[in-house]
Amino acid sequence: MPNFRFIALEKTLYTPAVKVDYPSKKASEYYGSMVFNQAIMREYLTTEAYEVLQSAIQKGSRIERKVTDQIASAMKAWALNKGVTHYTHWFHPLTGATAEKHDSFISPIEEGRAIEEFQGNSLIQQEPDASSFPSGGIRNTFEARGYTAWDPTSPAFIVENTLCIPSIFVSYTGESLDYKTPLLRSMKALDDIAVEVVKYFNKNVKRVYPTLGWEQEYFLVDSALQTARPDLMLTGKTVFGHSSAKDQQLSDHYFGTIHDRALAFMQELEIESHKLGIPLKTRHNEVAPSQFECAPVFEEANIAVDHNQLLMHLLDKVARRHHFKVLLHEKPYAGVNGSGKHNNWSLATDTGINLLSPGKNSKDNFRFITILVNILKAVHENEELIRASIASAGNDLRLGANEAPPAIISVFIGEQITRTLHEIEKMPSIGELNNNHKVEVTVNIPKIPEILFDNTDRNRTSPFAFTGNKCEFRAVGSSANTAKPMFVLNTIMADQLRIFKADVEKLIDGGLEKDDAIFDVVKRYIKESKKIRFEGNSYGEEWVKEAKKRGLSNHKSTPEALKAFVSKKTIDLFERNQVMSRKELESRYELKLEKYIKKVQIEARVMGDLAINHILPTAILYQNRLIENTRGLKEVLDSKTFVKLSKNQLNAIKYISEHISSIKEQVEAMIDARKKANIIEDQYEKAVAYRDTVMVYFEGIRYHVDKLEFLVDDELWPLPKYRELLFMR
Ligand code: ADP
Ligand code: MG
Repeated sequence: MPNFRFIALEKTLYTPAVKVDYPSKKASEYYGSMVFNQAIMREYLTTEAYEVLQSAIQKGSRIERKVTDQIASAMKAWALNKGVTHYTHWFHPLTGATAEKHDSFISPIEEGRAIEEFQGNSLIQQEPDASSFPSGGIRNTFEARGYTAWDPTSPAFIVENTLCIPSIFVSYTGESLDYKTPLLRSMKALDDIAVEVVKYFNKNVKRVYPTLGWEQEYFLVDSALQTARPDLMLTGKTVFGHSSAKDQQLSDHYFGTIHDRALAFMQELEIESHKLGIPLKTRHNEVAPSQFECAPVFEEANIAVDHNQLLMHLLDKVARRHHFKVLLHEKPYAGVNGSGKHNNWSLATDTGINLLSPGKNSKDNFRFITILVNILKAVHENEELIRASIASAGNDLRLGANEAPPAIISVFIGEQITRTLHEIEKMPSIGELNNNHKVEVTVNIPKIPEILFDNTDRNRTSPFAFTGNKCEFRAVGSSANTAKPMFVLNTIMADQLRIFKADVEKLIDGGLEKDDAIFDVVKRYIKESKKIRFEGNSYGEEWVKEAKKRGLSNHKSTPEALKAFVSKKTIDLFERNQVMSRKELESRYELKLEKYIKKVQIEARVMGDLAINHILPTAILYQNRLIENTRGLKEVLDSKTFVKLSKNQLNAIKYISEHISSIKEQVEAMIDARKKANIIEDQYEKAVAYRDTVMVYFEGIRYHVDKLEFLVDDELWPLPKYRELLFMR
């Protein structure tokens, strides 16, 4: 029986870099060519339809039936010109991936002929047989109807001859079954209140929207090697693997020269992304060997989220052509860095202001500080919910592992802003002064000290860092749908701004000038939110202690972190802002727990199978060789020499036996624990049981398997080793 590992290694050895078919045009000429973008809309739509659609995109106004027919027919004409045959509503169900069900444009007519047809109602709504999508109990199977509805704010695009229409996915009774619906609702909630607050500073602002610039980390592994690792195939991570003698200790991969196979892959990824209007801008090697990152220019959050979902699909698709597999798991290899996805988040206005950009004059700086302090306050009040928004079994392995931010949420703002906030805190409030001083302070208020930025002043260990003109939420996992952290940030900010406005209005009603009132509230918030600020090393042990003293949460695992999703506080928050109902939150909570349980369950099964079917037979085979050899030695050597020389041999035989029996025992115990956990009804209890009684065996089993990998003849070992997975190219 040939060893699969060697077949894979040989194949890898002879896989050249794929030649990239560069389009004959410049990137700027094919950029967005597969997107029904504004320019195309203008070309294909009547002025009336174009304006209606623009107003729907900008202001969320309704589109009349008559106009949707026009838009559908324009989309069809454009798509047919590009050789498109099918259309689909493209949505983000709660599985975490994207979903699509293709319908042909073809519609039969008389005389056995057919025409291409696409009408307004097919654009607006589709009804996939959705009974197999997870819904966390919102849809009973007898009432399995869920429908998808067109999201006009994200442009339609073409993938593989199919017109994809970004859509929301809701149940027959109107509950969201996807990630996009709460995201759009959170953006509306934020827009409504943020406009009112920003009007304190800029009268003509009509719209405020969140922006997102994500940075996607991933690993590449040769597809032949990946296929020879059942754990990578089924779980996206390695459950075993002795560390490579060299991995990332020399930091020689980070920002290093991109090797030719990876570069060819990236070039094609960029071409495909650019055709789809995903503004990919940077590419580089990451810290771990065979780890990479790509990042686009930031966009309006809804579009950026769609683009990230689309990019994850493209990564997979393009990788196939290059004989690679992309690993999006947060921790595919033990001992080297895992992958995250920084979410750079800011707020922008229709008048072109970045609300997190310090201004050139004191008025703009006053606005900037006001927004920033409200963010501090929002994170301070909702740190547990923020932690919950990024919880997953994969991310648990990364957070707090000295390579990624800890599970404790804190905000870094840098020395400059810290000093500014400190100065503001020291300035007298209106309330503390008698009338004589009032005039002076009123004049002083907008005189927020000038803020200069030193961009090197960046704390890489903070989970939530203000980095000059945006907040960088760094604890998001590489495989996450970014909609979730985004709708949480938008919602807590919307809520906070509403409270802020009420606080300010109360002071104004009490007779304060507007600026004085804002200043007083900002000052109070600076004091109240202090404990969320941390400028030191978030990876250190001292911070864990200090955070505990401050009363910040530190939920190390997903089951406990998720609880914040269904606390009374969270339910009230989401209902108050009309982003999600109790039912929606509870169903998501159940689903997330279920997903956690299944992930751990699958990993446990893969581990057991591999240990019993791959590892133990190999160890026994090698042990038999040693036994044979020892017997032979005994025959050819005189007994005194044999006793002297066979010690190592006999020890190795003994060690192998010990590892074998430890593995056997632990796998059996793990299976028993699984059986017990499986009959637990309550999802939370079950998740905890999986964590505390099943997962606890992972490390022990792995320890013995990795020891065996070190002992057993390399020629017999069936699984590609870390040095091969990480370095073969
Ligand atoms: P790094 O975090 O690696 O130091 P940069 O600071 O250059 O990288 O920026 C990282 C990301 O920040 C980019 O993806 C960029 O699109 C995003 N970004 C920049 N400005 C904004 C903004 N106003 N809103 C959202 N994202 C932004
Ligand atoms: Mg970053």
